[in-house]
Amino acid sequence: MIIVIKPGSSETEIQEVINSVVEFEYEPRTIRGVERTVIACVGDERNHHTLESLIVLPQVESVTPIQKKYKLVSRDYQQQDSVLEVGSSCRIGGGNFHVVAGPCSVENEEQTLTTAHAVKEAGATLFRGGAFKPRTSPYDFQGLGKAALEMLRQAQAATGLPIVTEVLSPTDVELVAEYADVLQIGTRNAQNVPLLAAAAASGKTILLKRGLSSLVDEWLLAAEYICVNGNNRVILCERGIRTFEHACRNTLDVSAVAVAKKETHLPVFVDPSHAAGRSDMVIPLARAAVAAGADGLLIEVHPNPATALSDGGQQLKPQQFGELMAQIGPLVEVMGKRLSRNHP
Ligand code: PEP
Ligand code: MN
Repeated sequence: MIIVIKPGSSETEIQEVINSVVEFEYEPRTIRGVERTVIACVGDERNHHTLESLIVLPQVESVTPIQKKYKLVSRDYQQQDSVLEVGSSCRIGGGNFHVVAGPCSVENEEQTLTTAHAVKEAGATLFRGGAFKPRTSPYDFQGLGKAALEMLRQAQAATGLPIVTEVLSPTDVELVAEYADVLQIGTRNAQNVPLLAAAAASGKTILLKRGLSSLVDEWLLAAEYICVNGNNRVILCERGIRTFEHACRNTLDVSAVAVAKKETHLPVFVDPSHAAGRSDMVIPLARAAVAAGADGLLIEVHPNPATALSDGGQQLKPQQFGELMAQIGPLVEVMGKRLSRNHP
């Protein structure tokens, strides 16, 4: 922490701040300039009382943290990329590139199985589908719940693809974890601490979407909550943030992908489907994600998007998904990564 003292403060006032710093068990290093005095406080802010409250002293101009609050997820803690094993064959991160694909919502057996076969055929290595849906409106389709989990299990049995599905509440974690290989925590729950803790306790891999108004720091701190709760199997997923621009449903924050890749050792995925909100923008955004250094993509695919019960406008038809896979293949290679596929 760096504390800047207001110009014109008396020696007694400066000493008062130094005493508080010592009381909070930091070591103060006082730098006296011509006009201003600055106190650098040495000590780990993560396990000491915060000094931020000293801003209330009238002689204090600013209190600025210099240390990042997250630790376990940072590259300072672990330099090399984490590689997460999912299912019997997926290794996520560390130069492997994976595509998770499937419908927004699991709607019925036929739609689920058709999509699972189609995305596998095109090269997806994990299958996604929503059983519990976090809809903005209570009047919209809320998901089929347990019945949908059973359909996901059938899809897994038929294709061998590991299952990614969202969990909305701590009380559902146990149930969803029985069926899923990866628990998705969606944008609306990105900072739901009890859910992060409960999901962590399941021991499953967690795909953590970025909150739609979360700063990168807040996103990484949400991941830190999972790690602190004993589970370092976290995949970060940028899915677009809310900005003033609405040509697309959200704004894909490509910078956040580059920053996250630099700051953390965790795999970083991109979900261009929810960022775009429109199917014609999914492929261009997917290309941008690969170029920014993403380790994988999450893509919504539906056999007939026009009839979809949720997110119809952004879901790709299987043939469009095939086109996406064909286009990203060479880009993944240019980025020095290996595109994991079921069908080379
Ligand atoms: C989803 O993946 O279908 C979903 C609801 O995602 P998000 O939380 O990013 O809106
Ligand atoms: Mn969706």
